[in-house]
Amino acid sequence: MLHPATQLTWISDAVGYGVRATARIPMGTILWALDPLDRVFSPAAVQRLGEGLWPVLETYTYINGSGGRVLCWDHGRFMNHSCEPVSLSPGVEFELAVRDIEVGDDVTCDYSSLNLEEDLDCRCGSPACRGKISSAEFVNLVPVWDRQLRDAVVHATKVEQPLLPWIDGEALAGWSARPSELPSALGHQFLPDAARISRDMRRVC
Ligand SMILES: [Zn+2]
Repeated sequence: MLHPATQLTWISDAVGYGVRATARIPMGTILWALDPLDRVFSPAAVQRLGEGLWPVLETYTYINGSGGRVLCWDHGRFMNHSCEPVSLSPGVEFELAVRDIEVGDDVTCDYSSLNLEEDLDCRCGSPACRGKISSAEFVNLVPVWDRQLRDAVVHATKVEQPLLPWIDGEALAGWSARPSELPSALGHQFLPDAARISRDMRRVC
């Protein structure tokens, strides 16, 4: 579920629809949280749906750290990418505002964290635009994302949190007090089992 102070908006012919803020949303606010109406399709469930629906899934879902395709029931599925996103996700199923968002600002995330199966050309218009959006950048961007998320989560207990019913409030309070304990965005990286095992072994070594 997306924050209630957001709405589906036609951005431009080039971009199509996107999400914009209808009120000021301060840094540290939960912008999106997985709720029980969202659907998560396992790879086997995607196969069972049949290829006629695959283009829909490719357009409107993202791949989580377990390889499941997450379909948001609301306008969350229209959130666009920016190379300087206002919203990032730690290694849990919610997104945090990593800066203050003003009325009319685009509410964006970073598709490089969504386990894209193919690279995309980027025309986000940010001065920091990387030109391409690629899952290959995931690991390199994690330290940047984690720094922004930890700076933001400090404010989480001092701002209004309308999405609190859909997350673990006790855990959020703990991370706000001890931001170094916030799970890393790396938790969202989906790796096939073999790659995951070798990464874990590297960590042990
Ligand atoms: Zn860009």
